[in-house]
This record gives sequence, C-alpha cells and structure tokens, in this order.
Amino acid sequence: MSQARLTSCIPLPLEHKTLVNVIEKAKDWALMHGVGMRDKKHFNKDVIQIAPFVLLPSPFPRTEFDKAIELQPILNELMHKVAHDDCFLEHTLQNALQVDEFTASLYDIWVKVRNEGVTQSLSLGLFRSDYLMQCPENNCIKQVEFNTVAASFGAITSYLPTMSRYVLRQLGHGDLIKNMPENKALSGLCAGITEAYDLFGVPSAVILFVVEEVSYNICDQRFHEFEIAEKRPDIQIHRKTLNEIFEETHLNDKKQLILDGRQVAVVYYRSGYEPAQYPSSKEWDARLRVERSTAIKCPSIHYQLAGTKKVQQALASPGVLEQFMGGGAATSRVRDIFTGLYSLDFDETGERAVEMALADAEKFVLKPQREGGGNNVYGADVRDALLKMRHSRERAAYILMERILPPLVPGYVVRPGSPVPPPVVDLVSELGIFGVIIGTKDKICYNRQVGHMLRTKLADANEGGVAAGLGALDSPYLV
Ligand code: ADP
Ligand code: MG
Ligand code: MG
Repeated sequence: MSQARLTSCIPLPLEHKTLVNVIEKAKDWALMHGVGMRDKKHFNKDVIQIAPFVLLPSPFPRTEFDKAIELQPILNELMHKVAHDDCFLEHTLQNALQVDEFTASLYDIWVKVRNEGVTQSLSLGLFRSDYLMQCPENNCIKQVEFNTVAASFGAITSYLPTMSRYVLRQLGHGDLIKNMPENKALSGLCAGITEAYDLFGVPSAVILFVVEEVSYNICDQRFHEFEIAEKRPDIQIHRKTLNEIFEETHLNDKKQLILDGRQVAVVYYRSGYEPAQYPSSKEWDARLRVERSTAIKCPSIHYQLAGTKKVQQALASPGVLEQFMGGGAATSRVRDIFTGLYSLDFDETGERAVEMALADAEKFVLKPQREGGGNNVYGADVRDALLKMRHSRERAAYILMERILPPLVPGYVVRPGSPVPPPVVDLVSELGIFGVIIGTKDKICYNRQVGHMLRTKLADANEGGVAAGLGALDSPYLV
C-alpha cells in the first residue's frame, strides 16, 4: 500500500555536527523542563529521564487541526449526553458485559450507585479526542478514539512546543515558529479541576489524585498538581493509590468522602482504567466508595463507560448521532470524522462484519473494551483472532474498526540512551485535542476546548503509546 507523505518543516537530513549539537541541547532542555518519565526497566524513584520526543515539530494540516479544535466542545457535549442516557449505555454495552469482566465490574458500580441514589449529580470530564489523518482518499482527520479517563500528556506537551521553538531557533529557522499553535492544555485542564472544586463549594475540602502504585509518567501528573498549587494555594492535593484510598478514607453519614479529617471535593483518576490496577477486591471497594460519595469524580463512572470502544462503535451506527444531536450541520461534521466501525455481536450485522474482516484483514483493527494501549489486534492477527473466536461469546467484547492510513512524515526520534545521531525515519502522528466539561444530566455549566497533544510513532509500529515506550511526544507544525 502506498502511503501519502508530508514534507518536514525543514529539509532533512541535518548535517552531522549540527544534528549532534542540537540533540544535546534539546535533551538537556527536555530534562531541565520536565519533559521526562521514570525508567520502567531500571526503576529508581529518584531518577527521571527524558521522555521520547521528536526533534522537530511534525507537519499537520492546518484546516484539519482547526476542525478538530472546533469540534471538541460539540464532542464534549455529545459524550456528556451519552453518559447520562442510562438506556443507551445499557443497550450498547449489554453483550460486552456478558464476557468482559472488567467493564462489567465498572458497570455494576454504576448500577449500585444509581439504585442507592446519586449523591453528586455533577461530573467532571477531562477528555481527549484522538485523530489520525486518513490518506490518500479523503485527506481528513478520522477519530481513533475518545478518551474519558486518565487522558494524559496534556502537561508535558504544553511545555514541548517551547523546546521545539528553541530547536528551530538554534537551527536558524526562527521564522517558522509562527506555524506552531499555542498550547495551553495544562492550564486549561487544571482550570477545569479547580472550577469543579469551586462548584463543590467547601473551602476546607481537598482534591484527591488517584494514582498507580508506581507512576512512570510522574512529570505529566505532577505538573497538574504544581499548576493548581501555584494558582490556588488554598487547595490541598493528595495523591493516593486505590489501595491507600481503601485504607485511609471513609464515608460519613452524609456520604462525604473523608481523608485525613477533611472532605474530598474532587477525585481525579490517573489510574483505575485497566484491570491490572485492581489487583484485589480492596481496589474495587475503594472505587465503589468514591463513586458513592459526594465528591465530584473525574471521570464519574458513567463518563468512563461512555468512553468505551463499544460506545464509539454504537455512535457510528445509522441514526444514533441524530438521536443525541438532531439532524443539523454539527451532526454531519461529527459523522465525517468517524471511520468504519462495526459491531461483532451475534446478529446479522455482526456476521457481516466478521465476513468482511476475514476477507481483507489488513484493512481492520480489532479492539477490546480496554484503555492504555497495547490491547488491539492488527493485520494478519485480525484474521487469526476472528477465526478463533468466531463462534465464542468473547467476540462481543470486541469491535471492528477500519484501519486508518495516515501520511508519513520524516523525522528524528530522540530516546533515552538511543544512539546520537539517530537516523531519519518515517513517522506517523496522532493528534489529541483536550476538552473539559462539567455538568449534571440536565445542565452543562462548563464546556471548553483547552489544548492539544501530538504523539508520533514509527510508521511501521501498530501503536504509539508513549508510556508504553512506542511513541514519542511531538508538537504540531501547521501546514
Ligand atoms: P487505547 O485506548 O488503548 O489507546 P486506541 O483505540 O487509541 O486504544 O488504540 C491504540 C493505538 O492503536 C492508537 O493510538 C493508534 O496508534 C492505533 N490505532 C487504533 N485504532 C486505529 C485505526 N483504526 N487505524 C489505525 N491505527 C489505529
Ligand atoms: Mg484510550
Ligand atoms: Mg488511544
């Protein structure tokens, strides 16, 4: 398959000495400004190394970038409505719940909380909608997925463009900086958290970040904490694992979540999105306790359920967007960003999707109801996987998605410990747009687009998760 190509912002390759020199500078800039992560292989809490990054900002079509930005508040509202439509969620997820224990556990919590009576009607969403450019036929963005839980890298990628600008200036191309859009994701995301805190309205209350046992992506998380601490020194922030929440918090008779004698106003999950983060019943109990409480959850459990791949697939089915958005221009703009999404349920549509994928497996991606990268099936494996589960109920836990073919961009990827200078390689970029929403079922009180992130991976890699070690952080250069 021949893939379209975009040209780098400056001619490549760079001359050897210039390249070595500028990479040294960029690496130090990155280290000294928190473009970093903890090392998974040789873990040492006291050591932060550079996060993988792309040396020069990668080209991204301006009109498509602007489109993604404009669509974000519309998508925020759509997901908000979806999350508050109990029947739709139940109907959409029912088959997957039969076979997917993790999603079923989340769903059970939601049902329990609803039956008991919801004590906090406000939800906080810090969302990220991800896109790849589809080439060559349409040359426009297609949505990869919509993240409603622990959407990361808003902080680091808010700093990264400053490094890219520095690199361009060092290379004598300061005139190009005008093509790099401003990115205020970090302050926008944090403003969402503090807005929710103020709506909670208890001055002595605290904010709770739910974190992993070990946070490899510590810089990104801490920057949120530091940003809030600087803008709002009146607010105390705690970081706790689900296990610590189980041990150290309780609900009082008003269902207020109490930590160290103080009420929790906002719970921001940076963990809790994958099964491994719930190793025992304690973590599930902690999650249930938080969901039952009056704290404003980011995300609330129904926001998390609305972010499943199954919901994404259902929204692409004929007539469903109209159900939530009516038949106007915004609806067709949203429909335009969808690529082929198919249910694998045991019905006529599901059978047809299986046949289609078996006939041309390379054109599709198989996705389970999981977050965090590394869970999808690609290429020839799609065929094998489908043959294996064709007659098993497990099939309903997956969706089938058309594979998006993004344009190739040449560039240099800089990783910790990688040889300097690196070769020029073919890359593809995934754009993420951040959105913040706060509201109840009936009223949305805050809805914004707040910034972006670009993540770039080797063209022949299936996935590009930075935390998973496959992708690299990047900044868009609008063309
Ligand atoms: P997760 O929630 O685990 O991040 P994604 O749906 O984002 O799941 O898939 C992970 C990665 O797989 C994406 O970042 C992208 O690189 C790749 N990918 C996912 N869907 C597609 C697709 N339809 N076409 C091409 N690549 C895809
Ligand atoms: Mg995701
Ligand atoms: Mg993703």
